[in-house]
Amino acid sequence: MKIGTLASHSALNIISGAKAEGFETELYCTPERIPFYKSFGMEDSIVEVPSFDAILEMDLSDVIIIPHGSFVAYIGSERILNSNLRIFGSKELLRWEEDRKLKSLLMKEAGLRVPKEFEKLDDVNTPVIVKSDGAAGGEGYFIAADKEEIEAKLDSVKGYTFQEYIVGTKVFTTYFNSLAKDRLEVFGADIRYETDADANLRFDDKPSFVVVGNLPLVLRESTLAQYYDMGVGFIDAFKRKTGQNLAGPFCIETIIDKNQDIYTFEFSGRIVAGTNVWMPSSPYSFVTFGEDMWMGKRIAREIRDLHETGRLDDVLR
Ligand code: ATP
Repeated sequence: MKIGTLASHSALNIISGAKAEGFETELYCTPERIPFYKSFGMEDSIVEVPSFDAILEMDLSDVIIIPHGSFVAYIGSERILNSNLRIFGSKELLRWEEDRKLKSLLMKEAGLRVPKEFEKLDDVNTPVIVKSDGAAGGEGYFIAADKEEIEAKLDSVKGYTFQEYIVGTKVFTTYFNSLAKDRLEVFGADIRYETDADANLRFDDKPSFVVVGNLPLVLRESTLAQYYDMGVGFIDAFKRKTGQNLAGPFCIETIIDKNQDIYTFEFSGRIVAGTNVWMPSSPYSFVTFGEDMWMGKRIAREIRDLHETGRLDDVLR
């Protein structure tokens, strides 16, 4: 049994963690990326592929695949959902994450505070962020102070969602739901730094939300306790809606406003790049394990624990 992933996003995190737990690893790497991953001493893991979606044609029956943000971007959720890949985590959650309506439904079911969404342009009565359907990474989003500004900027409102714009600090909190240990672990938090939305000085009216990187964030402990409750609400809601257990890493993406209200605008049902800031350990994972524990290693540990108790199939869906 091996652990494998695509050479992108959080591959260093995943592969180093799997190695630390004693697994053989496979890193599916396109030719131009090989020197980069070799420079970390990962040559024994590298499996050269002409393109990332080539893994769909390979026999990977002895490999547990750890999905990350580049899977959907490079392969597409549909092809992943229909594949025979043995994926760690919940494919069902991927489906909910993809669909804006289902996504919103799950966040509400979890009892999370979500920004108001306006069905019709006429209903808009607050500054909004205008989101185009199917956009990735906030591309093409823009902010409008009111209805008139939206009308001036859009020829047609078809394919757009208007969401209350929340002013505050973007906080991405990552969790690990362990079926082996039957507990939810709050893993760490980070701030996603986006250009040019986070730049102090700007002269354009259409800021870009392209992610530059992530900054570590240690929350007030009382706030962290709130996030713990939010995480519990989330896994419970997922169970109620799908009958499945949410397994492994997920992230709740929020904005905390000046009243300390936490608004959730998004979630991810897999490892997020923000966990890369917590290698070799986050303060919380260190407290939980008394040893270095980063997300890639945490995933591998869970796979081993479940394998040893014959429950691995529970998380390969
Ligand atoms: P990704 O899938 O990469 O997370 P996406 O296309 O789903 O991106 P969102 O995560 O929904 O886009 O939003 C991108 C960025 O837009 C956020 O990181 C945040 O900066 C901003 N944003 C989204 N919703 C709101 C909101 N309601 N109020 C204020 N800012 C927001």
